[in-house]
Amino acid sequence: LTAEAQAVLDEIEEKDVGFLRLQFTDILGTVKNVAVPADQAEKAFTDGIYFDGSSIEGFVRIQESDMRLIPDASTFAVLPWRKREDGASARMICDVYNTSTGEPFEGDPRYVLQRAIDRAEEMGFEINFAPEPEFFLFEEDEDGRATTKTGDQGGYFDLAPKDLASDVRRDIIYGLEEMGFEIEASHHEVARGQHEINFEYDDALSTADNVATFRTVVRAIAAQHDLHATFMPKPIPKINGSGMHTHQSLFKDGKNAFHDPDDEFNLSGTAHSYLAGILEHAPAITAVSNPTVNSYKRLVPGYEAPVYVAWSDRNRSALIRKPAARIPAASRIEARFPDPSCNPYLAFAALIHAGLDGIEKGLEAPDPIRENIYEFDEEKRKEYGIETLPSNLGEAVDALEEDEVILDALGDHIGEKFIEAKTEEFTDYLVDVSEWELDRYLEKF
Ligand code: GLN
Ligand code: MG
Ligand code: MG
Ligand code: MG
Repeated sequence: LTAEAQAVLDEIEEKDVGFLRLQFTDILGTVKNVAVPADQAEKAFTDGIYFDGSSIEGFVRIQESDMRLIPDASTFAVLPWRKREDGASARMICDVYNTSTGEPFEGDPRYVLQRAIDRAEEMGFEINFAPEPEFFLFEEDEDGRATTKTGDQGGYFDLAPKDLASDVRRDIIYGLEEMGFEIEASHHEVARGQHEINFEYDDALSTADNVATFRTVVRAIAAQHDLHATFMPKPIPKINGSGMHTHQSLFKDGKNAFHDPDDEFNLSGTAHSYLAGILEHAPAITAVSNPTVNSYKRLVPGYEAPVYVAWSDRNRSALIRKPAARIPAASRIEARFPDPSCNPYLAFAALIHAGLDGIEKGLEAPDPIRENIYEFDEEKRKEYGIETLPSNLGEAVDALEEDEVILDALGDHIGEKFIEAKTEEFTDYLVDVSEWELDRYLEKF
C-alpha cells in the first residue's frame, strides 16, 4: 500500500466510515457508484473492485463486461450529507481497468483526460484549469419533481433579502468545503434563480474530478432544501443560460508559460498558439463541451454566451477571453463556450489537445475583437474572418466527425460511442413535435 492509501485506511477507521462509494463516470459524464463496505478498502487498493461494465452507458459490449475499479486515494472524501450515527459514507474516484488485459480501459473518460495531460507533460507542460459552473435552483412540485419555478427574484450580485436562495448557497458551500473544496467566490447570477460558485484552480485531472463532485454536492444539498439544482444549459428561454467558463494556463518549470510581460495582452507565444488551436478546433470541441440538444439554445446572441469563433481581451461575447491578471502567475485564457452539462473529463481533454495542437503547429491567433460581436452583420464577420459555432448538436457532431485532432483526443472507443449516442439524441429531437410548433401552427393552419 502507498502511504496515501494507508492514510485513507486510517481515516476510515478514525471517522467510523461504514460504506465506501467507488465512483467513476460514464461517457455522458454521469457519476456512477459501486458501494462497498468500508472493510473492502484495502482490497480495493491492492486488487481493485470488479464490476459488470455492460450496464454502463457506452462502456463495453456485453461479452467483455468485466471491469476493475482502482480507487485514487487522493480523492477520498467523507460525504457531508450522509452522516449517520451508525457510520459515515465516503467516496473515492476510481480509474477503470480492463480485467482481461490489465490495461487502463479506453472507455474511461478519466483515462482520456490522463492521456491529454501526459501529452502536455511530454511537451514539458503542466496544466491548470479553473471552471465557473453556473446552475439554477428551482422549486419542486408536490410530487417532488423539478419545475422551472423559482421563488427568487434576484439578479447579478444582488444581496438579501432579494437573494432568497443565499441560505441554500451557503449550505452548498459548507458541504463543498467539507469535501475539500477551496471556494473562491459565490454569487447570484444574472438570471432569476441562477447561481455561480467558483472554486480554486487545480491541475486538469483534479479539476475535472471537482466538477463531477461539485454537481453531485450541489444537487444533493439543494434537494435537502426541497429545491432542484439543474446544470441544464438553458432551462428558460430568453434569459441567460448556464455556462461553465473554463480558465486554462500552462506552466513550464514552475513558471506560467502563458505570461509574457512584453506582449500587448501579457500573453506569450505559447498562449497565443494554444488559443489559436482552440479557435481552430472549436466547432468539433463544442460537440463535447456543449453536448446536449439544449446546449445550442444557450449559444445564441444576447445572453453573454458565445456564438462566434473569436477571442477578445475585453468583451464577453467572444468564445475566448483574456481575463485581466493581477500577477504573472494568473495569466490565463478563459474558454467561454463550455456548459455544465458536459462530461468535464472529455471536454477538458478536447480543449487540451486542441491547444497543444496549436502549439505544435505554431498556429498564430488572429487579432482580438474589441467590439460587440453580437452586433456584427454577416458582411462584417466575413471581413474579420469570423466563423460561427455549430448552431445545433447535429452540426457539432458533423464537425467532430471531420476533426482528427478531437477524435484522437477522445480515442476510438469513446469517439465512436459518443458519436453514436449523440446522433441518436439529435435524431430523437428532430422527429419530436415541440410545444413551440403547436403554439405557432396548430390553430393557424
Ligand atoms: N450565463 C452566461 C453564459 O451563459 C455567463 C454570464 C457571466 O458569467 N457573466 O455563459
Ligand atoms: Mg464568473
Ligand atoms: Mg458567471
Ligand atoms: Mg467567467
